[in-house]
Order: sequence, then structure tokens, then C-alpha cells
Amino acid sequence: MPRPIHATVHTGALRHNLARMRRAAGDARVWGIVKANAYGHGIERVFDGLRGVDGFALLDLQEAERVRALGWRGPILLLEGVFEARDLELCSRLNLWHVVHCEQQIDMLAMHKTHQPHRVFLKMNSGMNRLGFAPARLRAAWSRLDALPQVDEISLMTHFSDADGPRGIGHQLQVFADVTRDLPGERSLGNSAAALRHGDDPAVRADWIRPGIAIYGSAPDFPAHDAAHWELQPAMTLASRIIGVQELAPGDTVGYGSSFAADAPLRVGVVACGYADGYPRHCSTGTPVLVDGVRTRMVGRVSMDMITVDLTPVPRAGFGSHATLWGRGPDGAMLSIDEIAAAAGTVGYELMCAVAPRVPFSVDE
Ligand SMILES: *Cc1c(COP(=O)(O)O)cnc(C)c1O
Repeated sequence: MPRPIHATVHTGALRHNLARMRRAAGDARVWGIVKANAYGHGIERVFDGLRGVDGFALLDLQEAERVRALGWRGPILLLEGVFEARDLELCSRLNLWHVVHCEQQIDMLAMHKTHQPHRVFLKMNSGMNRLGFAPARLRAAWSRLDALPQVDEISLMTHFSDADGPRGIGHQLQVFADVTRDLPGERSLGNSAAALRHGDDPAVRADWIRPGIAIYGSAPDFPAHDAAHWELQPAMTLASRIIGVQELAPGDTVGYGSSFAADAPLRVGVVACGYADGYPRHCSTGTPVLVDGVRTRMVGRVSMDMITVDLTPVPRAGFGSHATLWGRGPDGAMLSIDEIAAAAGTVGYELMCAVAPRVPFSVDE
């Protein structure tokens, strides 16, 4: 028998979250962001739940090929554009739209031989200072693209650094609006946080929103808001079972480094899940875990293949009992991936992307 750890992708939750983001989008279209293998869920596994998107956006050309192989004939956008000239051949062959964020990408397009002109998303750096043309250079880049026979439609795009936080997006929105005011073309600005927190503004929704994390059911601005606040449902559950039980006496310690010591008699369950499964090693005593749907806490350190949990709130639990690391538990219980991420000093994004290859996945409704 394989180890009992298992991840499940919830198709119904993906559909629900997509519908939620459609409400946030108003009249705007919705890119479903499936980069990083659909944030660790698996492109093939999320496809059915997300086939209601207007397009799929991702980074990796192989991932674009996988989306086409699933029979998707609608838009696909390469969020970082091409990396080398021959990538443009694949764009032509698979009809991929691509971001253009630097002069080198325009140079490559100018050399590209194609019968089918490309649709590009010209990216402005409005303050994130990662990819994109500086505001002062954007219009020249637009004119260069407009003059190329290899390009037909030019859309405009930018990305916010603080849509999830107190600084907000106002400063970037202003720069983008000022520079692009009289340029034609569709616009795409907002990620999940921008669409949910600032989507009342039609300039933020624009023509396309680009939600990633929200469609996977994690709150983009935890702990300010949780997934329930945004009416999002977890699209992934990580679950396992208890494979051993220890009865501790006062003073007994658990695990490497003896980081936890019992101050009273304590039953401890050993769950088959460790950092080699993608459970964050930075979690420490107190991190929530569900056992048979009842909320309890981890005690001691995370080891490679196991964690240890306090069975006090679930006295009937024992060998074989169900453990939920995040997502949906039995009987409607829920444990947010955002809480586990916070306990590890990171974000839900990282945890979902980091579920290890040794964890078997399945898909449910
Ligand atoms: C990843 C990404 C998104 C999605 O961001 P979320 O915070 O997951 O909604 C949107 N736009 C770009 C350019 C991205 O790289």
C-alpha cells in the first residue's frame, strides 16, 4: 500500500471561484492564470474546472503546448513573452499571444518570418520594477510594434506591486492612465488582489483581469481577509492518516531537537506527511491540523516524512484516523492553506506550488 498522503483537486471549487472572479470582473474578460503547473494543481487536473475562462495565461511554452493538447482553442497568453527567437515559431504555430516587455523581444519579432501576425500585450513598468517598459519608453515601443507587419493587435498591460496591501494601486494606475490615455487597444491590469480589492474601479477591471491565486481558493491578502471573506473555496486538499500513536508522560519530548515537551500526559498522533511532501518545515508547535475533522495542533518539528499532532481534542482518534493538512476535511470542516502558510512565514502560493512529486493527486467534483 502507498503512504496514505494524498492531494485532491476540487473541480467544483475551481468553477465556484471562477464564477466569483467573473462577478468581480463585471464586463471584463478573465484570464485563468495556470503558470507553475496551475499553481501546483496540475494543468490537466484543473482544465475541466477552468474551461469557462476566456483565456489561459502562463509563462512556459511547454505549458502552452499542454493547454493546446487539451483541446483549448481560445486565447493563451505568455506572461513573460518569448525568451528566444525560435519561441516565436511556436507562437505562430500554436497561435499564442505574448507579452512584449523589452526591446529585445521587439527585435526578435522584427526578424520573425510569419504569415500570421501576432497579438501582443505591451507591458508597462508602472512601478513594480520587474518587467516592462519604463513609462517614458512605452510610446516608442508601441510605435515600433505598430510598424511591424509581424504584429496585428497591440494590447496594453501592467502589473501592481501592492494590490494586496496598504500602499494600494493608485500611484501605478495613474502612471498607466497618463501614458496610455490616447493609445488604442485592450487593457489588462489587475491580478486577484486588484480585482477583489479594487475592482469597483472600471479602470482596474479594464478589458481583462488576471486572477491566479483566487481561482485556487486562497485569499490574496491574508490575514487582512480570509478566503471565506472573499467567498472563495479551496481548490486543493492535502490529507493523510495517522500511522502511529505515542502516550507521553509529563516532561517527555517529541521529535528532532526535542523542541516540544509535554507538561501533562499527552496522546500524540504521528501523521504521514513531512517536508518531503511539501509541508513547510518552518511550521512549529501550534500550527493547526484537522484530525477526523477536528481542529488540533501540531507539536514538535516537521520531519521529512512525518509530523506529530496533539490528540487531546480528539480522544477517539488513533491509528488510521484522517488528518487534513489543508483544504477540506470530513464533515464540512475546513482548514485554510493561508493559515498554514502564515504559520510558516510564507504565502499560500508557495505551499500550493511546492506539493512534492511523490504526493499522488486525484480530481473530484
Ligand atoms: C502570476 C500573475 C498574475 C496572477 O496573480 P495572482 O496574485 O495569483 O492573482 C497576474 N499577472 C501576472 C503578470 C502574473 O505573473
